[in-house]
Amino acid sequence: MLPDVRQESRDSIAARFTEWEVPQYRVDQLLQWLWPRRAASWDEMTNLPKALRSRLAETYSLRTLELARKQGSRDTTQKFLWRLHDGAFVESVLIPANPALYGDRADRHTLCVSTQVGCAYGCRFCASGLEGWKRNLAPWEISGQVLAIERWHASQPAQPTTPEATDAAAAQPAANPTATATPTATSPGRLINNLVIMGMGEPLANYDNLLAALRSLNAPWGGHIGARKITISTSGLAPRIRQLGTEPEQFQLAISLHGATDAVRSQIMPVNRKHPLAELTAACDEYVQRKGRMITLEYILIQGINDGLDQVPHLARLAQRLNAKVNLIPYNKVDGLEWIRPSDERCRAFGSALDATGVVTTLRIEKGHDIDAACGQLRLRTERELATA
Ligand code: SAH
Ligand code: SF4
Repeated sequence: MLPDVRQESRDSIAARFTEWEVPQYRVDQLLQWLWPRRAASWDEMTNLPKALRSRLAETYSLRTLELARKQGSRDTTQKFLWRLHDGAFVESVLIPANPALYGDRADRHTLCVSTQVGCAYGCRFCASGLEGWKRNLAPWEISGQVLAIERWHASQPAQPTTPEATDAAAAQPAANPTATATPTATSPGRLINNLVIMGMGEPLANYDNLLAALRSLNAPWGGHIGARKITISTSGLAPRIRQLGTEPEQFQLAISLHGATDAVRSQIMPVNRKHPLAELTAACDEYVQRKGRMITLEYILIQGINDGLDQVPHLARLAQRLNAKVNLIPYNKVDGLEWIRPSDERCRAFGSALDATGVVTTLRIEKGHDIDAACGQLRLRTERELATA
């Protein structure tokens, strides 16, 4: 199979064009089609000579993700299920009106991106790991989620003015600037300016492909999304956290902690047996020191497992040591798993107790709760439906 052109950097395309004796201004013309204009075919690239387009088509593939299913919830969090060329499924979740957890308040839309088909880490509460790991996503399949959603968005008619839509617009006036514009498949209007690598899979277990994809998404000639607007979430692959610390980009790091002692964490996250808290926190320390940036600790609240107030001092100690903020997330029920989401009251009590220790705490009442926003669930359901069909 030909390499996908969206896995190429500006430099590698420039070198190729030099080799082909194609003038260098064509490089930026091509990149314009690939990234801001999100071209889905060579034919669209009308300002490139036909001969160049043919040569490109013989050298590279230009693949796009196929939308298999889409779910939207009342609060307009939308979930996209993609069918990959080998029949595998992955998901992306589009979250408007970002509550400023990972970026600033001017954010328009946050996209939650997948990095693997399935996951090998088998956290006991998570749908993504339920049926194991199938494969890594290629760089273009990671960046392709952003492009496919922006393409999808540009092809949508302007939103109807329902009471809900009016509420959303009032809450967030500049949230959807392209919705009222005449949409075209290649409209350069940007939808997504904030990425969270929190979809299916363990991003740091697909390190090279992840970095290649994020570099194109970050590059001024590519997706042009600031590194500080890209949050990588990991279940705690300590050696890879250290490695990420040596990269030049200032990506944001979020750690899926979910347990503030080894006893609690190992019970729900097998990865903790390989990289226990002491090792994980040492790697985080190193990352924070190298980058000079605050990290985020994610803490799902699961009833009877980690939501007791006795856990608060342990969590506070860890957060203080790392100078990290904590996102508390009430557990999202997963079909077939026994774990229970604590009552909102119990979550608030935990949040207040943590807040009282001085740790910067956010209690995130999940926006997509009603559409299985927790990653992996739409895929799991679709695969089960296909299996029984
Ligand atoms: N593998 C990476 C990134 C993907 S998971 C990681 O684990 O960090 C993204 C986040 O969703 C993680 O914090 C994960 O623990 C959380 N998550 C998984 N299942 C969930 C559920 N059912 N409810 C709430 N959060 C969940
Ligand atoms: Fe994998 Fe993250 Fe789910 Fe754990 S929480 S199984 S690491 S996707």
